[in-house]
Amino acid sequence: MEPLPCGHIAIAGAGRICGHLFGVPEDIEDVEYYRSLLGDGMRWELRCDGCAKDGAAEVFEVCEGCVRRVEEDCEFVGWRGEPGILERSEPVDQTVSTSPLPSRASTVVSIAPVAAQPGVWLLLNHKGKIIRWDADAGRASTRAHCAVPDDSDRRAWMRHQAGPRLHSSADGRFAAVVNDFGRHGAVVDLTTGKTTMVLDGGNYHPETVPFSLAFAEHHGRTVVIHRTAWNRLDISDPATGDLLTERTLAPAERGGPRPAHYLDYFHGALLVSPNGRRIADDGWVWHPVGVPTVWSLERWLGGDMWESEDGPSRHRLAWRLYRWNNPWCWLDDEHLVIGGIGEAGDAMLDGFEIYQVETGNRTGMVAGPRGQLFADARRLYSASPDGLEVWDPDTGERTGSVPGFVPTHHHVGSAELAVLEEKVLRRWRTVAT
Ligand SMILES: [Zn+2]
Ligand SMILES: [Zn+2]
Repeated sequence: MEPLPCGHIAIAGAGRICGHLFGVPEDIEDVEYYRSLLGDGMRWELRCDGCAKDGAAEVFEVCEGCVRRVEEDCEFVGWRGEPGILERSEPVDQTVSTSPLPSRASTVVSIAPVAAQPGVWLLLNHKGKIIRWDADAGRASTRAHCAVPDDSDRRAWMRHQAGPRLHSSADGRFAAVVNDFGRHGAVVDLTTGKTTMVLDGGNYHPETVPFSLAFAEHHGRTVVIHRTAWNRLDISDPATGDLLTERTLAPAERGGPRPAHYLDYFHGALLVSPNGRRIADDGWVWHPVGVPTVWSLERWLGGDMWESEDGPSRHRLAWRLYRWNNPWCWLDDEHLVIGGIGEAGDAMLDGFEIYQVETGNRTGMVAGPRGQLFADARRLYSASPDGLEVWDPDTGERTGSVPGFVPTHHHVGSAELAVLEEKVLRRWRTVAT
């Protein structure tokens, strides 16, 4: 084996680097570098400022260790050039069906799929009425009225105005109405129409995040995971409101050490993995930095009370300056996909990163996709502003599109993506039937 130009007998790194970065002495700080994309998928080179402007500048193949040294010792300041979007065209069914909403719904402000019941959705109207609607059969019934205090007078943060969002348990027995980017919410039992829980996410910067809430299953029983403070999540029984994660943090003493299990983290949107064994949290910490995090829901539900604070299964996936509330989805039970490529809000590339949640390592990057992300066992779907695009997550290739269809929701039980438009629900099947 011949030595690489860096002088090391080792495996070549993922990208070549310019001679100036390669020659940076270890004790020099604040050397900036760019990733120059080569128009071929995500292939890049690391270049200093001067070489990033000069396409003809000399670059060298170096070992993995030398690439890592530049990435760790120097400061990444942005992307240059363009990624290549890979295409592999496959036939895509262009049929988007249109289902008129039931007239009793009046003005619908939020929808939620009932995952275990194909074709069934819950609808929330502007007066807090919750309607169960079978979109295939065209049947609708009013199940509850839910009163949640209005948070819409909160000052909007980064154009996020507080407003209601509806969640459904997988079996459709329970619903939650919460104010995303607000403080308040409630859980309702749709078999009785009664409000079983009043939710309060606390008043410390709730305007920065969707209200943390997710339903999950534990030993055949539905539980609800919800925020009770900026840095605390709890699990409750939605039938009774009973708290299942009773735990007390020692009080913090001024100037003293932090109490054990103290968590310095603003919980954000929650997403339970398809098999229900893990949970992802799109929260942030001061600087502010978005720090999407995953941990074992199985351990937490199994009695490891502090798993959401500092349990051994907890992994930080990314560290993104001024950037959270990204599009995201579970690719499968082991991988989470997060929209945007990069480390800082103003230097992100369109695309997504794939993280292996067992280790917390990034295992892939695909340039191109924009908008909300959805996945099934075969494909990844991006709701770009011009319409749906279909991607092969293994190869990074775009395999098709459905122009003009920009879905917001995924009904897993019906294998369909959907969007509410005026008085109709537009739906498209993710797999051939
Ligand atoms: Zn250079
Ligand atoms: Zn080397």
